[in-house]
Amino acid sequence: MEDRDAHFMGEALKEAEYAMELGILPVGVVITIGDEIVARGCKNGVSPRFGHAEVVTMARAEANGHKWGRGMTIYTTLETCFMCFVTALNYQVDKIVYAMEDPFGGISSDSLAQELLPVMYRHKLPIITSGVLREESRTLLRKYFANSESEFWQNRENPLVKACFL
Ligand SMILES: [Zn+2]
Repeated sequence: MEDRDAHFMGEALKEAEYAMELGILPVGVVITIGDEIVARGCKNGVSPRFGHAEVVTMARAEANGHKWGRGMTIYTTLETCFMCFVTALNYQVDKIVYAMEDPFGGISSDSLAQELLPVMYRHKLPIITSGVLREESRTLLRKYFANSESEFWQNRENPLVKACFL
C-alpha cells in the first residue's frame, strides 16, 4: 500500500464518517488528480437509490470543470456497485482504490467478465487497488449496521453485513 493511497483513503473515510453522522450508510469518496483532491462526497440521503457516493462525487468533479475522468483516481471506502463502476467507466476514470470489499453488491475490473462489456468499454477498465484502510472502513460499517433501524441492514445473512461482523 502506498502512503498516498492511505492518505487519500483517510480523507474518504472522513466523508464516510460525515454520512454516518447524518444516519446514512457510511460510504465516502474523494477523487484526485495527482496530489490534488478535485471533489469529495458521501452517499446522498436525498436519493438513496441513485445518490451513491461515487456518482455524487463524479458529478461534482464534472461540475468543477473536469469533463472527463482521465487522470483521476477514485478513493472509495466501499467497493463500487455496478452503477458506480459503469459510471466510472463512462467517465473514463484511470483508477479506483477501495477500502472494504462488498461481497453483496460490489463489482470491479477484477471480478468482471470483460467480454460481457460493450466493445467501447473493454479497453477502458480502471486499474483497481483494494483493501486500503479496510479495517477502518469495516469498523465504521459494522457500527452503522449494529445501530441501524433498517430491517434490510439488520439482516446478518446479507453478505456485506456478514463480512463486517466476521
Ligand atoms: Zn454505487
